[in-house]
Amino acid sequence: MLTGYHVAILGGDARQIEIIRKLNEWNATVYKAGFDQLNESFTEAMDLDLDSDHVSKLDAIILPVPGTDESGNIDGIFTNRLIHLSEEWLKKTPAHCRIFTGITNDYLTGLAKKVNRSLHPLMDRDDVAIYNSIPTVEGTLMLAIQHTDFTIHSSKLVILGLGRVGMTLARVFNHMGADVSVGVRSSKNKARVHEMGLKALDMNQLKTEDLHCDLLINTVPKLVVDQDVIKQLPSHALIIDLASKPGGTDFSFAEKRGIRAMLAPGLPGIVAPKTAGRIIADVLAGILLEEGRKEKSDD
Ligand code: NAP
Repeated sequence: MLTGYHVAILGGDARQIEIIRKLNEWNATVYKAGFDQLNESFTEAMDLDLDSDHVSKLDAIILPVPGTDESGNIDGIFTNRLIHLSEEWLKKTPAHCRIFTGITNDYLTGLAKKVNRSLHPLMDRDDVAIYNSIPTVEGTLMLAIQHTDFTIHSSKLVILGLGRVGMTLARVFNHMGADVSVGVRSSKNKARVHEMGLKALDMNQLKTEDLHCDLLINTVPKLVVDQDVIKQLPSHALIIDLASKPGGTDFSFAEKRGIRAMLAPGLPGIVAPKTAGRIIADVLAGILLEEGRKEKSDD
């Protein structure tokens, strides 16, 4: 139970609603900011006035999965207003207040360091990223089905990257009967692709590989789907880029060539916010309880 914990949820999407519900179930005191367009009957969290004394009691702040932008603004689908996470505001929280986010960036990492608050980018954890790959891949499947006029079965598929998402993608699309090739850069991952019964492509020399495919799914957060790669794709090919913004595709070149390419961020929050919220809430509760126990034994 999280009795006595004061937690603020700042902005985000439907995943945050599930996190609020879970924290509430575990008896935490939950505040929310950036949810002014949410149904008024949602009473499981109190509205947080960012200038109030409640801020000085916060044990944890939970940011949306994308964290902040590079200027420190927090976005949310339940508000038209951006929340700005500033040094001045964070200094009002107690020294032990933890900041949870999905991913971090230079602004957020720098800010947490400056104000000396611990920052927990949850998507850096393998457990969260692997659980989260399940709704991500279900969302990818949904997009692939919606935006093509052929079956996944028997289609030629190129997946770039064999990380937490890439591995789940490769397995699921392979089980669906697609002809799957996976772009990897290490010999270890090349061996893994072989073990999975799939074809490995060398990411270090992608332009020399056979990229003639119906569907290309990128998970590498670097510009890898560049002009050389796009030139090899047939005109009916669809690129789904899952990598974090700005993705790993030269979108303007794809458009020039008439190749459909879409950046598809936040799929878990779109296709399965309840599951995705629970994944985050479970890990959060584990960290808060564990840290709480440590603090008590340090006292
Ligand atoms: P990950 O486990 O770190 O995997 C990233 C993969 O990219 C690894 O295979 C890595 O290769 C490869 N890679 C990284 N830099 C590379 C480079 N310069 N050249 C070639 N390969 C490179 O990450 P993940 O958890 O699978 O997530 C992948 C991306 O998807 C991230 O950007 C993440 O934020 C995003 N994501 C998006 C959604 C969504 O809804 N769209 C959901 C979840 C995650 P090595 O193994 O050799 O290092």
